[in-house]
Amino acid sequence: GPRLVIIGAGQAGAETARALRAEGFAGPVTLIGEEAHPPYERPPLSKDLLLGRGRLEDAHVFEPGEAERLGIEMRLDTRVAALDPAARRLDLAQGGVLDYDLLVLATGAAARRIALPGAAAGQVHYLRDAADAARLAPALAAASRVAVIGGGFIGLEIASAARALGKAAAVIEAQDRLLTRLLPQEPGTFLAWVAQQNDVALHLGAGVAAIAPDGVRLSDGTLVEADLILAGIGAVPNDALARQAGLPLGTAGGILVNAQNRTADPAIYAVGDVAVQLDEVTGAQARSESWQNARLSAARAARAVTGHAQEAPETLWFWSDLFGGTLQIAGTPAPGQVTIRRDGAAPAFFCLDAQDRVAACIDFGDPELLRLGRRLIASGQPVDPARLADPETDLSLIED
Ligand code: FAD
Repeated sequence: GPRLVIIGAGQAGAETARALRAEGFAGPVTLIGEEAHPPYERPPLSKDLLLGRGRLEDAHVFEPGEAERLGIEMRLDTRVAALDPAARRLDLAQGGVLDYDLLVLATGAAARRIALPGAAAGQVHYLRDAADAARLAPALAAASRVAVIGGGFIGLEIASAARALGKAAAVIEAQDRLLTRLLPQEPGTFLAWVAQQNDVALHLGAGVAAIAPDGVRLSDGTLVEADLILAGIGAVPNDALARQAGLPLGTAGGILVNAQNRTADPAIYAVGDVAVQLDEVTGAQARSESWQNARLSAARAARAVTGHAQEAPETLWFWSDLFGGTLQIAGTPAPGQVTIRRDGAAPAFFCLDAQDRVAACIDFGDPELLRLGRRLIASGQPVDPARLADPETDLSLIED
């Protein structure tokens, strides 16, 4: 059969290899990754592993022996330096070439670096891969005051881990609330309250002027004292190979793909964090950085390669472990009305669209509410916001 090569041995690359075999792809499959580790899932890097619980091996995608059994050739410690789509050939950084018939780009994303006076000397930590985590975990254990630049989920998980380890923690965020990329106003405000209840010092609407020897200097002159500084200010898709090869990119970077995760070149697919899904009807572009997307995009590419029918789209799902609880987001939060429902200790938030259909459900610890929220999202039926908010309303019956 044709030779298929996957660039990037992260979660999406490994899951693509596995899904290809599950779909019956019989040709040779080579998985190339620049890291020394076999493919692993990243969520534990900012959770258990930071707290000194669990090992990287527990996060490996493949079971021991699975890759060999599936006939997946892994080339670790190997970086692809260039892609020639006309010749269907890859240049390896350490020399040598590799020819392919089909190619999957699964190169992920990199932590966005902060450009600030003082930030050069390795004083600022980032967290994207196992090597970052191996540097950060002992530094965190030794620190007494942690300053996190960026109120996204990675920064918040690190602040949360710092508090769990008994360290002082501060979060500096340019916007006036947290998780602005993922959450609407109301749950974002609630999360800020939760962080404050956990003694995280929040600096919202705050600019960063410089990295000082003893902390972070804000634009208004305030010094946020810290002996450990981490920047969690977003991720940049690793699209350099595609860019240099002339494949179409998204307006904010990333590799443009269709609903089957195929790029403009019929022999090349892109999956995971690096892929930008183009809605061929509306022209909208969406890049999603999540465990679920890595898995689903891998499955879509494998079905497309093997000519199998695609499955119905799944409701999007994302989680983050924060301050002893789990934040879960189902669906796609969009601007519009937010209905708050409080059954137990923590509230759930439902985002309604202009037709009063549930577009997203955000929950802070009640998996049953989230399950019902997913059902309401999938049903696509309008709901009465007042009934939705009323804890007396049985959500399993609300569509009637
Ligand atoms: P990656 O897992 O980043 O893998 C890409 C791989 O490609 C890397 O190993 C990279 O080294 C390699 N590579 C890149 N370029 C080359 C090249 N030229 N040659 C060879 N190899 C190359 N999602 C959730 O839903 N919930 C969570 O709680 C959550 N927590 C997270 C915590 C952290 C710290 C991080 C970083 C991410 C988290 N995510 C979470 C997001 C999720 O882990 C990512 O969406 C997922 O890892 C994407 O998989 P990927 O394979 O596209 O990219």
